[in-house]
Amino acid sequence: MCGIVGVYGHPEAANITYLGLHALQHRGQESAGIVTSDGNKFQMSRQMGLVGDAFNRDEMQKLPGHLAIGHVRYSTSGGSYLRNAQPFAVEYAHGSVAVAHNGNLVNAPDLRRRLELDGSIFQSSSDSEVIVHLLARGREPDIETRIVNALRQVEGAYSLCFLSEEKLVAVRDPRGFRPLLLGRLRDAFIFASESCAFDLLEAEFIREVEPGEVVVVDDKGLRSFKPWAEEQKRFCVFEHVYFARPDSIIDGRSVYRVRESLGHALAKEHPVDADVVIGVPDSGSAAAIGYARESNIPYDQGLIRSHYVGRTFIEPQQSIRHFGVKLKLNAIREVLHGKRVVVVDDSIVRGTTSRKIVKMIRNAGAKEVHVRISSPPTTHPCYYGIDTPTRSELIASSHSPEEIARYITCDSLGYLSRDGMMAAVSAAAAVPTPTKALPGANYCDACFSGHYPIEFKPGTIASLKRVVN
Ligand code: AMP
Repeated sequence: MCGIVGVYGHPEAANITYLGLHALQHRGQESAGIVTSDGNKFQMSRQMGLVGDAFNRDEMQKLPGHLAIGHVRYSTSGGSYLRNAQPFAVEYAHGSVAVAHNGNLVNAPDLRRRLELDGSIFQSSSDSEVIVHLLARGREPDIETRIVNALRQVEGAYSLCFLSEEKLVAVRDPRGFRPLLLGRLRDAFIFASESCAFDLLEAEFIREVEPGEVVVVDDKGLRSFKPWAEEQKRFCVFEHVYFARPDSIIDGRSVYRVRESLGHALAKEHPVDADVVIGVPDSGSAAAIGYARESNIPYDQGLIRSHYVGRTFIEPQQSIRHFGVKLKLNAIREVLHGKRVVVVDDSIVRGTTSRKIVKMIRNAGAKEVHVRISSPPTTHPCYYGIDTPTRSELIASSHSPEEIARYITCDSLGYLSRDGMMAAVSAAAAVPTPTKALPGANYCDACFSGHYPIEFKPGTIASLKRVVN
């Protein structure tokens, strides 16, 4: 759960990166970092906290240059410390290199052990640092070849921006788990995890970086190649369901339209007699609108979200999470009192949020509360870059929907089926872009199905987590 930005050829590369990271703040709130190059020298600033708090004017003035990469982080591997903040930047035999990573490398523990036995000293506990060490060992004369050869050794999900003194290199893993897009701002090229960053910058969205593609930008312009054997595309369906911003276009689709379409499908699969449909803001709102339209039940805003707290379970501690639901949401009595309410949310993870929301809606006077979830039960952890807890903490891994309904104390509970979800994603109009719109793209839905697209080998993060489970 991270967001990345890369900028080539803008006199204010750090400011552009800052704004891009601001738009991607929802992808990670623990730390933020920017590395710039003026063609000769790197400058770096990495701080804990939100983008707006992390960089003040003094900090930004220390970041000159026309090249930059940036990162916002929520840890899916490695603890929440400044030394794990990205981008990582090092000096090595070929000069300087920095990297910003979104994703998760499943064989990082293995690679790290091997590198440490071979003399590498790691500065962080993040899986992404492995990439830098592999890269630093490369003897090939140009950075793009060193990057490709380093990445041949890693397995997992990676959307990456690399920076050298005078080059920017963007890479997406062959399965394309995580998004990465290319845009243009006058003469500058911009890379970003989601198109909402381009909207803020008034940059033109050119196309998505394709799965398995390496894009190099330097003083000769932009070129790209695909060095790896082609794999089945496996874009993370949960980006559509929950993670990405609804005003983004990723995977050739409007995230908002996908969520609306999920809501339509949900209403067809799980209709109910009710007086009002509400969404859990913000992630459930678009699906709730779709549900309301399909079922001809009025949509209203029954829950209000405070915008001054992060996402509920973005803070890793259970105690904060429990309190967090009330900090974040409040019910509108005037909308809910005396009503049969359908409340739509994107997912149930541990069940703690839904339980509190149901109670909140009842306390506001609702007669009935029907919970509808715009994705299938979350039964398996993600090893490719979304923070989900271990299997034992996922309520749907060990409880049926009926048991979950009893736990969260609702009158009825309906999850969208896996087939329904996939059909709804495909049905959401692909956005016409100058690139291939990827309509028949395949998805990773491991969190719902347990079908992991990358096999586990002994020593991988996934197999370690499995033992813990
Ligand atoms: P829970 O209380 O654990 O069931 O949390 C469910 C809520 O967490 C839902 O409202 C989701 O919008 C949200 N959610 C789902 N997945 C994640 C995630 N990986 N990180 C943060 N929040 C999430």
